[in-house]
Amino acid sequence: MPVSAVAADRSVCAPLPVLGRDVLVPLVTGGEVDYAALDYAASAPALQRVWDDVAAYAPYYGSVHRGAGYLSQLSTDLFENARRTVADFLGCRADDQVVFTRSTTDSLNLLAAALPPGTRVFVFETEHHASLLPWERRADLAVTYLNAPRTPRQAVDTLERALAAREPYGAALVCVTGASNVTGELWPVRELAAAAHAHGARIVLDAAQLAPHHPVDIAELDVDWVAFSGHKLYAPFGAGVLAGRADWLQQAGPYLAGGGASRKVARRTDGGVDVEWHTTAARHEAGSPNVIGAYAIASACQALTEAGFEGLVAREQELIAAVRAGLAEVPEVRVLSLFGEDAPRVGVLSFVVEGWNSSHFAAALSAEYGIGVRDGLFCAHPLVRTLLGSEPQEPGECGSPEAAPGERSEVGVPPAEGWGR
Ligand code: PLP
Repeated sequence: MPVSAVAADRSVCAPLPVLGRDVLVPLVTGGEVDYAALDYAASAPALQRVWDDVAAYAPYYGSVHRGAGYLSQLSTDLFENARRTVADFLGCRADDQVVFTRSTTDSLNLLAAALPPGTRVFVFETEHHASLLPWERRADLAVTYLNAPRTPRQAVDTLERALAAREPYGAALVCVTGASNVTGELWPVRELAAAAHAHGARIVLDAAQLAPHHPVDIAELDVDWVAFSGHKLYAPFGAGVLAGRADWLQQAGPYLAGGGASRKVARRTDGGVDVEWHTTAARHEAGSPNVIGAYAIASACQALTEAGFEGLVAREQELIAAVRAGLAEVPEVRVLSLFGEDAPRVGVLSFVVEGWNSSHFAAALSAEYGIGVRDGLFCAHPLVRTLLGSEPQEPGECGSPEAAPGERSEVGVPPAEGWGR
């Protein structure tokens, strides 16, 4: 079972604004060593700048889209400005819509719910479960699962063959991840988008891992939608984005029914109700929106843009090269890769350590060395099985193998006799 880590500067994890470093480090390590959080692929702590922006706005927030009062107007402006900031960050086309959701998972479920009836969906088995599974929820969709390719070229060829073999079809959608949360490898998004469009299909990009590491430009990549999560982009939990083509989103019924999504509601003479739904992003944002979450995402987008991806990418490549070089010196360690050593990648990697259960290894890294990594199957079970080349232990949901009763509660806590340095 593999362990996954994100290359990060130690200083990046300090200071923690809510649970202070002075509290967290002794809690995690017994106070003996510094703590390096390397599980940012799962969730990255929000930037101090984002917390500051949120704190500056928080005392003034009011209900969005719901009143003429000053605070309500202010919040509505901030919410809609956040939408524009995200649209700029993603290089959206003039007629694209930015819908605020809860997460990447929520964004892809929203898109799945909005697909025209009978849409054909093509998805690689290597996807994170967030992009692998939402299509299963609608019985009318025809889902084709594509085998794991071993090179980016093979990915494009596999998709082209699958698209060609099933023509003619009506609506079709390809779903692909930009950067793998397991291997960190970059997928050939532009080429896959070109293949999809050549066959009349549309494409959605799962940018949960790509967006925090790389510029994502919808128009330049020529993808139809992009989904990402705030909590992986240095904003807090609870908000995400689905951005892209408005037509399918607006032809579909609202993702949730309720206030905010409805423009006009009236009783009919037969006793029922008639509803006119919004034709803007609000159609899929029923209920009071997460304005703080949206504002935080916009703040993180701005911070990344101002920092400049060029420098960030260069620094990250140095860090990941150093991690890989270090791991290469440990004979028991195997770094997982689908596309091979030289494949372009972001600063995320996973490895197996011969003879170790990944939960125990990750717990030991934390307790003994103050290094936080993720363990298990990373919500990408088929991919990890392919990478391991064998059936791993049965996984628990999204993560670690089920431990024997009682064993799980030990994870993360060193046994009384210590882990042994
Ligand atoms: N897609 C990828 C590639 C991911 O790595 C993740 C989370 O790890 C997701 C989707 C799901 O993101 P969220 O849990 O924020 O919905």
